[in-house]
Amino acid sequence: MLDIQKIRADFPILSQTVNGKPLVYFDNGATSQKPQVVIDAEVKYYQEINANIHRGVHTLSQLATDAYEVSRGKVQNHINAKHPHEVLFTSGTTHGINLVSNGFASILKSGDEVIVSSLEHHSNIVPWQMLCERTGAVLKVIPIDQNGELIISEFDALLSDKTKIVTVNHISNALGVINPIKYIIEKAHAVGAAVLIDGAQAVPHLKPDVQELDCDFYAFSGHKMCGPTGTGILYGKEEWLNKLPPYQGGGEMIKEVTFEKTTYADLPHKFEAGTPNIAGGIVLGTAIDYLNNIGFDKIHEYENELLEHATKRLSEIEGIRIYGNTKNKASVVSFNIDGIHPYDIGSIIDKLGIAVRTGHHCAQPIMNFFCIPGTIRASFSFYNTKEEIDLMVDAVKQAQTMLS
Ligand code: PLP
Repeated sequence: MLDIQKIRADFPILSQTVNGKPLVYFDNGATSQKPQVVIDAEVKYYQEINANIHRGVHTLSQLATDAYEVSRGKVQNHINAKHPHEVLFTSGTTHGINLVSNGFASILKSGDEVIVSSLEHHSNIVPWQMLCERTGAVLKVIPIDQNGELIISEFDALLSDKTKIVTVNHISNALGVINPIKYIIEKAHAVGAAVLIDGAQAVPHLKPDVQELDCDFYAFSGHKMCGPTGTGILYGKEEWLNKLPPYQGGGEMIKEVTFEKTTYADLPHKFEAGTPNIAGGIVLGTAIDYLNNIGFDKIHEYENELLEHATKRLSEIEGIRIYGNTKNKASVVSFNIDGIHPYDIGSIIDKLGIAVRTGHHCAQPIMNFFCIPGTIRASFSFYNTKEEIDLMVDAVKQAQTMLS
C-alpha cells in the first residue's frame, strides 16, 4: 500500500490553493507535478556543477559529463535497453518522433506506406504526413471503434510488403486506452516494417521493457514522469540508429569537419547536436529514481483504484458519456455531459480549484470520429486521492446544474 499523504508531501505544489480552494490537479496527462527531490536536483546542478559537457578537461565539465552519462545509464536500465548508446536525450516525445520521421526520408520511396492509428496525438501524425509529402509515401490509418479501441483486423489488412514503418502510441492521451503494441510490433516485423512506439502517456504509469517489446523506437517525455520540461528520450535499436542519418548538424555530433567532408560521431552523439538540456537530462535520472523507489507495481495498482472510483462516481451523473470504454485503460477519464460544452465545465470547476483538461487534447481525429468538439479529461497520478475525485464529481454536478 502506498502512503499517499507522505507521497503528497513530496510535491510542494499540491499544498497550494488555487482560486481560494485547495488545488486538485487532474491534468497529469499534460504534465506531471515535480517532487522536491527533482526540484532540489535541478538547483544543485546549477549551484554546484554547471558546465558544458563532453568538451572540457576541467573538473566541473567532467562532473557534469559524468552526471549526464550516469543519467543515460539510469534510463537504459529503466527501459531495459541493450546499450547506453541506444538512449538518446531529446527535448521530448515530439523531438524523438521528428528525429525518426526525418531519418526515414532517406529510406522511403514513392509508394511505400507508413501506418499510424486514429488514436494518435498530433505529434505522431503530423511528422509522418510531412514525411509522406516529402517522399511520395502513403499514410495509412488504423481506424477505431466506438469504444475507442483500435480495430485490429483493419490493422492486419493494412499491412503489406509496402509498409515500411508502423507508429502508434502505447497509451492514448485523449482516452487512456492501452494499445496492443506487442501484437502490433510482431505483425509489423513479420512484413519487415519498423515500429515506433509513442510512449509519452505510458511512462508515467508503467515501466516499458524495450527488449521484451522488441520495438525499434520508443519515444517519451520527461515532464510527464515527474521530470523537468524540455527533456525526453528516444530509444532506438542500435542497427536502426546506425542506419538513420543525423537529424541536426552542429557541434558534438561530428568526428571530423572539413569543407570537403564531415564525418559523424558514434552513437549516441551523432543525434545529439549542440548543447543539450544538461540539467534536465541529469534530473530526469532523479525523477526515474523517485518513481522506481515508489515502485511501478504499486503505482499501477493504486492508479487502477482511482480509475475505478472515478468511473463509478462519474457514471452517477445524468447525461454523462465516457469515451474510451475499455477494460484496458490507464488512469484517465475522458467525458462529456449532454448538451454542455466541455470548456464551460472546465472553466467552472477551475474556479473550484480543480484542474482538468478540456478540448481536443491534440487529437482532433478522435474528436471528429466521435463528432464532438472535445472532452473533459481528468488524468490521475499516484499522488491523487479518491477524496479529490469526489470533489471533482461534486464540482461537475454543480457546473451541470448552473449550465442546464
Ligand atoms: N504523444 C502523446 C501520446 C502525448 O500525450 C504527448 C503530449 O501530451 C506527446 C506525444 C507530445 O509530447 P511533448 O509535448 O512532451 O513532446
